[in-house]
Amino acid sequence: MQELVRKNIWELKPYSCARDEFRGRVANVFLDANESPYNSGYNRYPDPLQENLKKMIAPLKHVSEDEIFLGNGSDEAIDLVYRVFCEPRVDNVVAMAPSYGMYEVCANINDVEYRKVLLDEHYQIHADDMLKATDEHTKVMWLCSPNNPTGNDIDRREVKRILDEFQGVVVVDEAYGDFSELRSLRELVRMYPRLIVLNTFSKAWASASVRLGMAFAQPEIIALFNKVKYPYNVNNLTQQYAIELLSDIEKLERWIRDIKRERNNLLPSLKEVKCVKQVYPTNANFVLVKVTDANRIYNFLVDRGIVVRNRNNVQLCGDCLRITIGNKQENNEMLAALRSF
Ligand SMILES: *Cc1c(COP(=O)(O)O)cnc(C)c1O
Repeated sequence: MQELVRKNIWELKPYSCARDEFRGRVANVFLDANESPYNSGYNRYPDPLQENLKKMIAPLKHVSEDEIFLGNGSDEAIDLVYRVFCEPRVDNVVAMAPSYGMYEVCANINDVEYRKVLLDEHYQIHADDMLKATDEHTKVMWLCSPNNPTGNDIDRREVKRILDEFQGVVVVDEAYGDFSELRSLRELVRMYPRLIVLNTFSKAWASASVRLGMAFAQPEIIALFNKVKYPYNVNNLTQQYAIELLSDIEKLERWIRDIKRERNNLLPSLKEVKCVKQVYPTNANFVLVKVTDANRIYNFLVDRGIVVRNRNNVQLCGDCLRITIGNKQENNEMLAALRSF
C-alpha cells in the first residue's frame, strides 16, 4: 500500500480536532472547541467520523464500520482517490469511457493524466484493453456499474480479471447498484485490499440534496481517506437526516421497487415511439435512447417543460438522450411529448 500512496500523504500528520482528543470518554462541559454555549440547535461541531450514522449503514451494506468512508457526495470520495494515490504530472489513471464525467474533471483538477478506454458496441469493457492502457505510473482504474450514461451492468468476469491482474487501486462506482439485479462488489472488499466501491444517498435513497456519498474499502484505505478529508466534511444536519432516513428501510425498498416497475413499464412504450431508434438495455434508474435527432428532440422537449440529458456529444452516444425514470405521471408526460415530435 505504501508504494501506491503519495509520499506526502503517507507521511501526513492529520489535523487533530478538539473532539478527537477526548474521544471515548464522557463529558458534559465542552470548552474545548471555541463553540458558542448557546443552543441554536447547531452550535456544536458535528462528529468528524459520523459514528452513529456508520452504525446504521454497516449492517445495511454488510460491511463493518471501519470499512466505510462518508463524504460530501461521492464526488468527495472521487477527489480523495486522486489526492491520496496520484502524484500530479507523474501518475495516471485508466478509465472506461464513456462514463461519469467527474472522474475526468477531478483528474484534471489534480493534474493527473486520464486515459480513456472506449467501451465496445455493447457498451462493455474488456479487461485486456484496460490492462493494456496501463503503465508503471497507473495508480487507479475507474469502473462504473451500472454505467452512467449507458445504463448497463459491467461484465463481472472482466471486473474480476482486472482485480486479479491490475496492481493499483480499482474503484467500482455502484451509484446505481440498487437498481441492478447483480450483487454488489462490496462483498469482494474483504478479498481485495485495493478495491474501493462507491455508493451514494443521491439516487435510490432519494437524497441528492443533502450531499452524502459512501466509499467502502478495507480499513487501511478508509483511514487514508479520513486522514486527508476536511475534519468536519459531513455536517450535522445531513448526519441527523440520514439517521432518520435509514430508520425506515421499507420506504427505501419501496422506492426502489417502484422505480424498477416504472422502468419496466416505460421501456416497451419507448420502443414504440416513432423518433426512437434504439432503447439500450438498462440496469439503472435511467435509460439511454438513440433518437432520430437528439439536438432537435432535446429542444422540443425543453419547449414543453421536460428536461432530459442530451448525450449527443459524448463518444459512442451520438444522437442519444439519457432519460431518468420519474414517477408514472412524469414518464407519461415525457412519452406523450416524444410521440408528438
Ligand atoms: C449520480 C452519480 C454519483 C453520485 O454522486 P454524489 O456526489 O454522491 O451525488 C456518483 N457516480 C455516478 C456514476 C453517478 O451517476
